[in-house]
Amino acid sequence: MNHDDLAYWSKRAADWAQAYHAGLRDRPVRGQTAPGETAANLPAAPPEAPEPVETIFADFEALVPGAMTHWQHPRFFAYFPSNASPASMLAEQLANAMAAQCMLWQTSPAATEIEQVMVSWLRQALGLSDRFTGTIHDSATTATLSAVLTMRERALGWAGNSEGLAGQPRLRIYASAQTHSSVDKAVRIAGIGQENLVKVATDADFAMDPTALDAAIRADLMAGRVPAGVILCVGATGIGATDPIAACAAVARAHGLYIHVDAAWAGSAMICPEFRDLWEGIETVDSLVFNPHKWLGVQFDCSVQFLADPAPQVRTLGLRPDYLQTLGQAEVTDFNEWTVPLGRRFRALKLWFTLRAYGLEGLRTRIRNHVSWAAEARDAIAALPGIEIVTEPRLSLFTFALNDEAATADLLTRVNDDGRTYLTQTRHEGRLVIRVQVGPFDCTREDVLTIPRVLADLTR
Ligand SMILES: *Cc1c(COP(=O)(O)O)cnc(C)c1O
Repeated sequence: MNHDDLAYWSKRAADWAQAYHAGLRDRPVRGQTAPGETAANLPAAPPEAPEPVETIFADFEALVPGAMTHWQHPRFFAYFPSNASPASMLAEQLANAMAAQCMLWQTSPAATEIEQVMVSWLRQALGLSDRFTGTIHDSATTATLSAVLTMRERALGWAGNSEGLAGQPRLRIYASAQTHSSVDKAVRIAGIGQENLVKVATDADFAMDPTALDAAIRADLMAGRVPAGVILCVGATGIGATDPIAACAAVARAHGLYIHVDAAWAGSAMICPEFRDLWEGIETVDSLVFNPHKWLGVQFDCSVQFLADPAPQVRTLGLRPDYLQTLGQAEVTDFNEWTVPLGRRFRALKLWFTLRAYGLEGLRTRIRNHVSWAAEARDAIAALPGIEIVTEPRLSLFTFALNDEAATADLLTRVNDDGRTYLTQTRHEGRLVIRVQVGPFDCTREDVLTIPRVLADLTR
């Protein structure tokens, strides 16, 4: 296969994509396949001789789509969305064609500069002041890891990177029990250790209690441990719990701690001014991550981290060996110094295309619709006999359950085998609950109201 063949096959792929998207509503949302089924259809060993693309393409059509879960399905209400607008798909196609490695300004001047401008556009879109600059990561997990490594090095006076962690004081990181497992992963990878991630008590609304945070920090100081940072959540994954940013940040700041906010899902909603009360006080934090690849329609992967001052993170992560220096251009930004991996994809392009193709108004309308349709779906589900709403909608996420755990699990299995919609579960205060989050880029009110219809059919 050569580049002339690629042009032909790209057109075939584009036609396939159009038909695939047009037919999504007729497909079951969750992959209806058993473990091992796809692998059993593939040869165990790689081919020695080249094969015609026609054959490869035909095998793709025969084996893959039917065994996939359809994340762009308009009735995908599981987990959180991973939306890919058509404009972001187009941008990815162009980025793929250039296949650039965007580690340095010099290796990708336009990519670096569009990334800087996109971070600034998003900062304005979210209503943040020009106190923040930022960068694009592959995922929120990596952004949070970058923040935790920065907390570690800042607290150790940058001795961890040079001397290692043996013999260093015991560092402490604080987060609520509602925070995402990526925080646990970050403290493990950073060598801080799971036991030093303090899960601070939450209030009746599952938000971190600032008084409990203060008490935990003081207790650690008394015990000779070294508090390093606080991680707050806005729209946590389970039920959308949100910490009071202003009050918790004030406590952290009083103790000189670094503050990172995980708004991976809910951050996108902040393009709508009416939701910004949720993160009141956000201007006082050091670092903040949100995923345009969730609710904003920018194809995975695209996670944006805002930083009040990039210097501590660049000091933690940046290395400039001789072969990576950009001679004679000391003033340019080399974004690899802001992130964990050296190599970087051209992720800013799909932000540029998406923000322009829909405009902030188009994106706001989608999010507002999702929030109001979630409220409608909540009311319709609450009216079904035997079903109890367990947590009320936070933005477009709420949970429900039957009164018996086995019945809840059984209902979820039957919903997902039915295929008209796709929901997933979490455990809230020990209770198995079914999550509903409304977020597919192209869903309609009808699509959302399918959820109560399916539940009515299956609980009758
Ligand atoms: C999805 C999510 C993450 C993880 O995001 P990745 O980009 O997949 O790493 C972290 N925190 C919250 C609150 C999330 O919703």
